[in-house]
Amino acid sequence: LASRDWHPERSTVDVDGVIVGGDEVIVMAGPCSVESEEQIEASAASVARAGARILRGGAYKPRSSPYAFQGLGVEGLRIMREAADRHGLKVVTEVMRPKQIDSVAKYAHIFQIGARNMQNFPLLQEVGKTGMPVLLKRGMSATIEEWLQSAEYILAEDNPNVILCERGIRTYETATRNTLDLSAIPVVKKKSHLPIIADPSHGVGLRDKVMPMARASVAAGADGLMIETHPNPPEALSDGPQSLYFDQFDDLMDQVRRVALAI
Ligand code: PEP
Ligand code: MN
Repeated sequence: LASRDWHPERSTVDVDGVIVGGDEVIVMAGPCSVESEEQIEASAASVARAGARILRGGAYKPRSSPYAFQGLGVEGLRIMREAADRHGLKVVTEVMRPKQIDSVAKYAHIFQIGARNMQNFPLLQEVGKTGMPVLLKRGMSATIEEWLQSAEYILAEDNPNVILCERGIRTYETATRNTLDLSAIPVVKKKSHLPIIADPSHGVGLRDKVMPMARASVAAGADGLMIETHPNPPEALSDGPQSLYFDQFDDLMDQVRRVALAI
């Protein structure tokens, strides 16, 4: 069902009126984690002003350490949705287990399946059953074929609303957190009709490299971007080193618009 052989025309995903996979490069931006009402309000105001269409922020966080900040849960979902509504944004947020689906569905427009859960097949089936848009991140050690097979689990539940997200893979290189696989974008576009966005923030893990890789992703054909921003990155409870300052995000949007016009 993910294949272009079966469905030759490109698909779009309608996120409550925001079309992913159409002519506009759709930017999803905001903090790694929802931390407080002030933080998410400042983030929503800033990313909306710069031209993002969708607010990102985790309320359930897949942290490497069980002792690290795990997210605000339902309270985080609630304050994120309120901030998004105030600024005309949609909401994308991660769901980590089937039990969280109902509460996430109440506040979000897109379920995010994180890299660590790309092959959590029961979770894929359950989000598939909702019929709501799903952002499926590539697993950090997954091949493109495995990633498309995971998309298949959602599509097979009669849910066509799948958006793929390249977020970097593990390689031997240590200069960056992950290696953003830019070539996955044209490869996926040839194999599949599904829209694909890029997440250069997790892809490189370093603030100063997010902008060039965002430009490159759009030049390579990405239908959108996911970008982490924070009102005060050094104080962020997660992913501070890769989070952009608001003025850097303004520049990024400006440059991405210019690349989009040039291609
Ligand atoms: C995130 O978006 O904050 C996140 C945890 O992403 P990933 O699953 O790609 O690591
Ligand atoms: Mn993050």
